[in-house]
Amino acid sequence: MRINIGDISGKVGEQVELKGWVHARRDHGKLVFIDLRDRSGLAQIVLTPQIEGASDLRLEYVVGITGKVKERPASMVNKDQLNGAYEVEASTLQILNKSEPVPFPIDTDGYEQSDDLRMKYRYLDLRRERMQRNLKAKHEASQFIRNYLTEKGFWEVETPILTKSTPEGARDFLVPSRLQKGKFYALPQSPQQYKQMLMIAGVERYFQIARCFRDEDPRTDRAYGEFTQLDLEMSFATQEDIMQLAEDLFTKLTHAIFPEKKISQTPWPRLSHKDAMEKYGTDKPDLRKDKNDPNELAFAWTVDFPLFTEQTADDFFHGSGSAKFAPSHHMFTAPHPDDVALLDTDPMKVRGLQHDMVLNGYEVGGGSVRIHQREVQEKIFDLIGFSAEQKKQFDYFLSAFTYGVPPHGGIAPGLDRFLFAILGEKSIREIIAFPATSGGQTAVMTAPSEVDPKQLKELGIEISKKE
Ligand code: ASP
Repeated sequence: MRINIGDISGKVGEQVELKGWVHARRDHGKLVFIDLRDRSGLAQIVLTPQIEGASDLRLEYVVGITGKVKERPASMVNKDQLNGAYEVEASTLQILNKSEPVPFPIDTDGYEQSDDLRMKYRYLDLRRERMQRNLKAKHEASQFIRNYLTEKGFWEVETPILTKSTPEGARDFLVPSRLQKGKFYALPQSPQQYKQMLMIAGVERYFQIARCFRDEDPRTDRAYGEFTQLDLEMSFATQEDIMQLAEDLFTKLTHAIFPEKKISQTPWPRLSHKDAMEKYGTDKPDLRKDKNDPNELAFAWTVDFPLFTEQTADDFFHGSGSAKFAPSHHMFTAPHPDDVALLDTDPMKVRGLQHDMVLNGYEVGGGSVRIHQREVQEKIFDLIGFSAEQKKQFDYFLSAFTYGVPPHGGIAPGLDRFLFAILGEKSIREIIAFPATSGGQTAVMTAPSEVDPKQLKELGIEISKKE
């Protein structure tokens, strides 16, 4: 039976079966050495040319070998390698599949390669150790989150991907409807309204490792098109409850999955928006003591944001044109209870019950206590300048707000963003298996693409102009 390469150290003197890819190859004539790689690591395999196929091996061939695990002579031990003290003396070799010469080396960290090439052959790029580590870290983080939240009584609930606009301030991706020609679904920018409706539904504690879609320009810490966030919502919870839960979860997750990392301050410091701006000139300050220490993690909270910012002409929320206010977070964030009266007199002075989670200078999550009274929600719609027509679009939401809405709130830490910051990666794309390029082209499969005119006809769509 095949064993993992990472497990050979416990098998000295035993006959084992290994399967994997040829990572490196050194043909010394009398002996052929290969480094065999599987997901768990590398091992040196020694083959004699008498073994059939030994001289035919090339990089990235897929092979199975059987052989005996031996300790290397002391002078040949490489302490820095996982299996540096062992090698396997092969007795049989089976070439399971051949490989063309690969377009770039796989035994490097990959940063030196062009992005276009890495995305074109992402399935090869992901073979590198660094990328495997990143994929594994994401899996482990998701698993930790699921276990933690399940223990705290949260239910994982899925919400629709084909839905209606869920404004978070970005542009929507639209999907044409075939059954109702001329109408469109929007992909969710976040499950915000659904999770609030789940609170109305009595779910009380919800989470989802949710895919969110936003048509906005990529940045180092923002992928194009889609990303994953841990979306959670709690009924009958105060802002303190939400922050404590998120702080405990991410502290424990960090200790469990990244034991080499040190959190520089616990409990995490809390800064008011005003203080952060005055002291650091940003609402996501980098509070690390030593920015060159790759293992230092400086978490912080920013709170007491103003509920509104000035609205600009091209603001997504620009409604009837007369309003001056745009939500700082989103339009469902509750005003601070002490400031509600100011909504009528001086809205720019109103603080919102928003909390941002900051890590090493990146905003890794945002959330808030939500409005749970219909009149307040309507007032916010008015203040951000929604026309009667725009308000009508939210009829379903306002109507849900008439049926006993519990006080509720939540947060949505970006999972890719958190891992990007914690792993100190150069770009958030390094955390995503198949990210899109900055031009919006997907890895390997190169979407978007033209479609069959028949499909367009079925959808009632005509392309008027191609760029
Ligand atoms: N929906 C918000 C976002 O995606 C997070 C939240 O308020 O819970 O940023």
